[in-house]
Amino acid sequence: MALSFETARDRILGCVEPLGAERVSLIEACGRVLLESFSAPWDLPPADNSAMDGFAVRSADCTPGASLRVSGYIPAGASASLLEPGCAVRIMTGAPIPSGCDAVIPFEDAEESDGRVLPRGTVRPKDHIRFQGEDVRAGAPVMPEGTVLRPAEINMLASFGRSFVSVHRRPRVAILSTGDELVELGDPLPFGRIINSNALSLAASVRELGAEPILLGIARDEPQSLRDKLAQGLDADALITSAGVSAGDRDFVRDVLADMGVSPVFWKVEIKPGRPLAFGMRGKTPVFSLPGNPVSTMITFEEFVRPALLRMMGHRRVLRPTFRAELCEPVKKKPGRVQFLRMRVVRRGERLVAASSGDQNTGIVRTMVHANAIAILPADCAGLKAGDFVDVHLLPWMESIEE
Ligand code: AMP
Ligand code: MG
Repeated sequence: MALSFETARDRILGCVEPLGAERVSLIEACGRVLLESFSAPWDLPPADNSAMDGFAVRSADCTPGASLRVSGYIPAGASASLLEPGCAVRIMTGAPIPSGCDAVIPFEDAEESDGRVLPRGTVRPKDHIRFQGEDVRAGAPVMPEGTVLRPAEINMLASFGRSFVSVHRRPRVAILSTGDELVELGDPLPFGRIINSNALSLAASVRELGAEPILLGIARDEPQSLRDKLAQGLDADALITSAGVSAGDRDFVRDVLADMGVSPVFWKVEIKPGRPLAFGMRGKTPVFSLPGNPVSTMITFEEFVRPALLRMMGHRRVLRPTFRAELCEPVKKKPGRVQFLRMRVVRRGERLVAASSGDQNTGIVRTMVHANAIAILPADCAGLKAGDFVDVHLLPWMESIEE
């Protein structure tokens, strides 16, 4: 019996587990998920330093009418120094504050002539100083395990001298296309054959989320060919096949997988497109058998495979955020299956407005190209009017949603 969309996705997520640890250099770490917790090894900033280019002074010396002798120069990167009473020192942003000094006067708030400085306004203690540890205190917990490393986290780890971090391994994802009609990209294209485009879009999707695609090429619609290729795929962390899972008389993928020790978890989901989706596990390796129509392949990857691979990479939030968008045209639908619609979403004032990106036939790839979002119509929905709201998932790399 076919499963509901949510049940199928939950079953998949219930089967897959985060992969183990590997150490990566910080330059490779963006998008990875920490498998250690990180506490500050020292104060940040490590020493009091100037927040401005200006003069380091004692605030008590800066009485109205005061004139301070400029007694020195501290560039960024200088080592510790001392400020004599009644003097000022030229100091650059980031340079260590000399001992004895408790404020910095920015150049724009001082007059300088003949080697002396006249402060213009009032100077208060602590003005324009960045204090040791004011950002992060030594020992403070900064990043718990499970933190997704973005440029900001990378910046902080680098500031604390970390060149390597322990993160979840990225899944190696084997991709196998099946079908007698397929030829590889770059090979001659005889009449009646089509190019194995699914391998390329699947590899692109796998890369986009930070996992590593392994292209296994094409298996023909016969069990031996499938067995040879699938054997390689089952060594990977995850296997994705496309096509050959419908009820056609040459659709052998599920049977061969079962022969090879893949325990079926489900076959068929009440969705459109993508109903013949099959999923199984061999050991810890999830096997996604996606239907072959490129639109079905892309949408089922997006809605089922992507969250699973993210979980394997250690991500805790694996589902895309859902936004509500207002339909600007009616949509016909029969109750029964969840329907995924290819949409163009734009922002109009405070709202998101969605229109179909065109022909929703499964065979039409053009409207996937024109789409920047997928709308998810619930199974029981029996059509919608203009002005009704739908849930949408924005697709990766969508350009602006401004009109
Ligand atoms: P199937 O699931 O085998 O019935 O295939 C469904 C449709 O998807 C057919 O029109 C196939 O030609 C097409 N198709 C299958 N595999 C691929 C592929 N790797 N690249 C592009 N189109 C494909
Ligand atoms: Mg086929």
